Amino acid sequence: MPLEEYAAKRRFEATPEPPPKARKSKTAANYFCVQRHDATRLHYDFRLEIEGVLKSWAVPKGPTLDPAVKHLAAQVEDHPLEYGDFEGNIPAGNYGAGSVMLWDRGTFDLLGDAGGAEQIARGDLKFRLRGEKLKGDFALVQMKGRGKGKDWLLIKKRDEFATPGWDVEGYAYSVLSGRTQEEIAQNLPARKSKRKTAGAADRVWDSGPPAKRAAKAAAGAKAPAKKKARTLTSRP
Ligand code: MN
Repeated sequence: MPLEEYAAKRRFEATPEPPPKARKSKTAANYFCVQRHDATRLHYDFRLEIEGVLKSWAVPKGPTLDPAVKHLAAQVEDHPLEYGDFEGNIPAGNYGAGSVMLWDRGTFDLLGDAGGAEQIARGDLKFRLRGEKLKGDFALVQMKGRGKGKDWLLIKKRDEFATPGWDVEGYAYSVLSGRTQEEIAQNLPARKSKRKTAGAADRVWDSGPPAKRAAKAAAGAKAPAKKKARTLTSRP
């Protein structure tokens, strides 16, 4: 039962996270997602659907499209597939308390002939992502003899999607709701206009949703809009 650890860590009457369910179908959809999780420490949870569960790694510095950078990815407990579109707030006092943003999602293909479980067992997993933000070929490579086998490195391969200097924090918005981490933490509603990923980095920080901008314009000069800090705390 690969989801026992997931279930054991959580009280489902106290957290909005989904309980594991019996699988109806064994058909793999090759889903992947990344959640930006502002817990005790901000991190990104990288998840790949393999054999009916979401194999999961916590990546403190987040994924990157920069092939020169290798980021630590600590393998954590398998999550149920239902977790794949989870976004919300895990209440204080619960495991992983804090806000969870659905940061990216899409599908992936394994690279090479070996199955996913086999690639994980050998400590070298290669795959091609088709996300909204993450695209192209990646590898997760286990650091043998470190972290009791839980420490891996997430590496972008050189391909047409590789982008030197790519900064994950320039894309700190939800692909589900368009919200920032702070907006999720405050339980604000989803933004009406979906953000476009291309060029989104330029707009993330200084433009509110159209409705807010219109209200601001209507308020005119006499009521200077309060400068709401949109800066996200980016803890290492
Ligand atoms: Mn997490």
